[in-house]
Amino acid sequence: MLDLDRIRKDFPILTREVNGKPLVYFDNAATSQTPQQVIDVIVDYYSNYNANIHRGVHALSQEATDKYEEARQIIQKHFNAKHAHEIIYTSGTTHSINLVANGFSALLKKGDEIIVSALEHHSNIVPWQMLCERTGAVLKVIPMNQNGELEISVYDTLLNNNTKLVFVNHISNALGTINPIEHIIEKAHQFGAAVLIDGAQASPHIKPDVQALDVDFYVTSAHKICGPTGVGMLYGKEAWLKKLPPYQGGGEMIAEVTFEKTTYAGLPHKFEAGTPNICGGIAFGAALDYMNSIGFNAIANYENELLEYGTEKLLEIEGLKIYGTSKHKTSVISFNLDGIHPYDVGTILDKLGIAVRTGHHCAQPIMNYFNIPGTVRASFAFYNTKAEIDVLVAGVKKAKMMLS
Ligand SMILES: *Cc1c(COP(=O)(O)O)cnc(C)c1O
Repeated sequence: MLDLDRIRKDFPILTREVNGKPLVYFDNAATSQTPQQVIDVIVDYYSNYNANIHRGVHALSQEATDKYEEARQIIQKHFNAKHAHEIIYTSGTTHSINLVANGFSALLKKGDEIIVSALEHHSNIVPWQMLCERTGAVLKVIPMNQNGELEISVYDTLLNNNTKLVFVNHISNALGTINPIEHIIEKAHQFGAAVLIDGAQASPHIKPDVQALDVDFYVTSAHKICGPTGVGMLYGKEAWLKKLPPYQGGGEMIAEVTFEKTTYAGLPHKFEAGTPNICGGIAFGAALDYMNSIGFNAIANYENELLEYGTEKLLEIEGLKIYGTSKHKTSVISFNLDGIHPYDVGTILDKLGIAVRTGHHCAQPIMNYFNIPGTVRASFAFYNTKAEIDVLVAGVKKAKMMLS
């Protein structure tokens, strides 16, 4: 059982008003809110030990380096990576994916095949299309069904000895579907293909174990897990990270530089050119500590309760259709009101202080599949309440009355 009163007090933003109404924040799939514990870490960094890392012999630089590397270990433990140097700091999921896609440019040839899923975020489609253009590799797509689930039997037939890479998100940000990544990884490995899992939408809800999954790459952004924006991570198996060439050249990523030849630093520094988001990395660790202090089992159970409650109450509204009805899903409800544009619903909800996302959620292929311009998406976090869902339901009823 979660102590909601205590948890909500950790998030100062939840007490503010929007348009004269108490804020109801249901846009957690876009970015989560930040608890005071993480805000304090950010303030402490800039107040007490702001310095560049790995460079100075002076005390502040050493303190910043220590905290930054401690945070890397927190991330390592959280995802259960074997080595801390298998955790690469990036600016977020998008950066992590591009880093891997760029690296594979050197490893793929014409006729090789890459498999992505129909449920992907644009950040997990476009880099692969660019990679295919560069290398002559071919992109194949695992189709989806009306429930918003992947057609896994089709996936099995897409795999063959030319398959070099498979890219699937753990949980769809547009529909909330939890994909069967264990099966996807195991099957891909039978053909020697590497698997990258986009965990941006999964990490706020579940704690993945990258060694148990035997996944080759796992990526996420701190801002989806109560951390700050502009920082995230790439987990990669050591052997893969050694094989991939560096993404960006610059300071920190070299062993020795002359004009004739540069040798690269070891892991993780090979992929961390330039001054990173030091404070962000430290706050990322603090955010994981915070989430773990609440507990991912308790979070998942409570969010399931919110999902069930919200689904039931919203479906009582006549003419409301929910997209994404898999039995395996997280607390994301994507919906439309019959004959009403999602943007108009979102605008009225905003007037009532309710923050939802409207549009295609960076997943246009999914919207094309359902033949809709977009949806209204309410996504719940562990600090939301059933009372807030009641406010949403009343707001949607009001929007329906005003717009039909
Ligand atoms: C949010 C999200 C991304 C993009 O994350 P950025 O932090 O914007 O790089 C990618 N994939 C999924 C599934 C997401 O939810």
